[in-house]
Formats: sequence, structure tokens, C-alpha cells
Amino acid sequence: MAPDHDPDHGSDHDAEHDPDHDGASRDPVVRYERRGPVATVTMNRPEYRNAQNSAMTYALDDAFRAAADDDEVKVVVLAGAGGHFSAGHDIGSPGRDADVPFARRAGLWWDHCDKAGAERRFARESEVYLGMCRRWRELPKPMIASVQGACVAGGLMLAWVCDLIVASEDAFFADPVVRMGIPGVEYFAHPWVMPPRVAKEFLFTGDRMSARRAHEVGMVNRVVARDRLASHTEELADRVAQMPRMGLALAKRAVNQAEDLQGLHSGLDSVFGLHHLAHAHNAETAADPLGGMDVAAMKARAAGRGGTHR
Ligand code: ZN
Repeated sequence: MAPDHDPDHGSDHDAEHDPDHDGASRDPVVRYERRGPVATVTMNRPEYRNAQNSAMTYALDDAFRAAADDDEVKVVVLAGAGGHFSAGHDIGSPGRDADVPFARRAGLWWDHCDKAGAERRFARESEVYLGMCRRWRELPKPMIASVQGACVAGGLMLAWVCDLIVASEDAFFADPVVRMGIPGVEYFAHPWVMPPRVAKEFLFTGDRMSARRAHEVGMVNRVVARDRLASHTEELADRVAQMPRMGLALAKRAVNQAEDLQGLHSGLDSVFGLHHLAHAHNAETAADPLGGMDVAAMKARAAGRGGTHR
């Protein structure tokens, strides 16, 4: 769970559920375009800084499936429309659909909607957060994240499941959920995508990590000017696309297997348990599973300190 959007957009009314469209507009929540061997998948809720609701999650999955199935596609780019890549999971936009059932794809957990307590949270997050992220990481074609502006909390998970990350100079990365008493987002890759001591600072402070710092610690591959982000990502994708499909699939799998041998797979499972201990603790002791921290409260805390982790 994560802060998502400008609270001025309101959060009290429910949008009519439409799996292909955002509650606030008729534009698709995810756009899919192919140009030559490169498929570009664009999150398209810019008015909510691409806050990820379930509709977007399953639309992303449809797009990745289309890219996997299309023999013309060699490389997939994941981008965000507007000024920000993704500000995290949707915890308050009019299109929030956490209580809406969707056909599940990541595993065999039952639907969470008619369940209560920790069972409800665990079933839901096993499917839409941990399960879907793992599924996407296994897409057997290279994925390149193209990141500008905010890449916060749930947004990190989307960038991290990609194989390469190109960031613009204005991009920043943060996981502020420790403020909710939660030890990081559901896909706990932190100590694998950055050195452990840097991961601790990132979590303990919740501060923004600049694109330059993210590059320095090896979390992103390239940092480019904002107006060069799309073209640079495309050039890199075109270059990768010159390699043979099977070679790319096996090279990707080889490195993913190495990460798993270094503990990523079991690390994700064990911290997912701690994450749910935190949600349960919050539900027992505070106002709600997010420790009483809504979007406005998270923003106020961040604004009060304004720290930047270089
Ligand atoms: Zn959670």
C-alpha cells in the first residue's frame, strides 16, 4: 500500500466499475502500442500520477500477455503517462477498486472480497501485488522501465520487475511506508536492487532517492534528460531487440535464477509475512491496516521533513 495521488481529487465516492477504464475518464487505464520489435505499455492514469488500482493491474497483465504472445515483439517498454511513472498503489482515487472482485491470475488464492481481517489482506495482496509482480518478472522477453517523476512505493515494484531501468534526471524513488509501521512494499526486493545498508537508509528515512543516486548504487541503468527519456529508451530497446529471442529469454532467466539463488525468491516470501504482520498489528492497535496514515497524512509528514536522500 502506498500514497497515490493528490488528495484534492477526492476519495469518498465510488466510481462505477469498468475493468478497462479508469473511473475518472474514458481513456484506457493502460495503452499498448507496438513499433517494430518494441511494444510499449503505458500506464494511463496521469491525473492520479498513475496510481495502480486493480483495473490497471489486470490491464497491465493483458498488455504483457499480448507482448509475450506476439512473435514480432522482442522487447517490452513499461512507461507512465504524464509527469510521473507511478506514485504507488491506489489508496484513495475515485477509481479505487480494492473491494471489487476480479478473475485472479497469479495463483489460486481465493477471492478476498467476502473475507475478513488478515485473510482478506493476505489473499488480496498475494494475488495483486506479490503474485502479479512475480508473474511479470518471468515474462520471457526483456522489459525496460522508462521512469520519470515519482516512482514511489507500489511504483517501485513495477520498475523493479523490469530488467532494465532508464530514468530521467527528474525521477525519484522512495518507499515511505515505514511511516505506516510497515517494513517496505509487498515486493521486498530492496536489498537486492541496492546494497543492504543503502536499503536500510532508504527505508529508515523514507526520503527520496534521486535518479543520479539510484544510478550510483546500481538500481538504474541510465539517467537521461527528461526530454530524451522516451527516445533514449527506444534506442536501447531497439538495440536489445537485435539479439535473438531465445538468447534474450535464456539470458534473462539466467540472471533471474542467479538473483533467486542469492535469496530473492525466498526473501520476498519471508518479508511478505512481516508485511502482513505489520498490517495486522496496525489493524489491532491503530485506526486501520495503514496505521491511520491516509494520503493527506503521508503528504503532510513528507512535506514537514522534506528530506532528500541525495
Ligand atoms: Zn500491503
